[in-house]
Amino acid sequence: MLRIGLTGGIGSGKSTVAGLLAARGAHVVDADRIAREVLEPGTPGLAAVVEAFGAGVLTPEGTLDRPALAAIVFADPAARARLDGIVHPLVRARAAELVAEAPQDAVVVQDVPLLVETGQSARYDLVLVVEADLDTRLARLAQRGVAEDDARARIAAQATDEQRRAVADVVLDNSGPLTGLETQVDRFWTERVAPALR
Ligand code: ATP
Repeated sequence: MLRIGLTGGIGSGKSTVAGLLAARGAHVVDADRIAREVLEPGTPGLAAVVEAFGAGVLTPEGTLDRPALAAIVFADPAARARLDGIVHPLVRARAAELVAEAPQDAVVVQDVPLLVETGQSARYDLVLVVEADLDTRLARLAQRGVAEDDARARIAAQATDEQRRAVADVVLDNSGPLTGLETQVDRFWTERVAPALR
């Protein structure tokens, strides 16, 4: 098994790179998706969040009211830490299960938005960082409906490109068109992934 940690700031293109790697046969474990799964109705994760923050974080249907929870943790760093303390261990445990279920000869790509912030680089054989210019990221996020102020605030709260570069084995530049990104992913696969599998 070759374990690749994929990271980058919001809107940099992590999901896009994960998709390109999946198309080449990689087995993708997506932290954002797991973070949603561990808070679905009926999970111990959701029960713990309600215990911590009250039934006000539930919709009338009993699902997590994400805007209500976001409003609480946005205003209160201690609440944010408490939420992270519930969610992060659940995500790590579920990710570890999914990795353990992958075939022994698999290339496992873990999309971990906060890989650098949470000091997890040593867990991977290769750390792959995707970058794009700030303006490009803001424009792509805007197309997805993320307001510029919100995007800037989230970017400011994340690690910097320099901090991510410091732990990267390979940096992909996603400021240009998709074809350019595809070429870089091809090169990464040929030069770094294929030799490691031999
Ligand atoms: P997030 O941090 O929000 O999960 P992400 O890092 O996973 O984002 P993507 O979702 O892959 O980033 O990309 C952000 C947006 O930009 C998406 O809508 C995607 O389709 C688009 N995008 C990614 N790369 C390119 C590109 N090279 N050219 C044009 N659009 C792109």
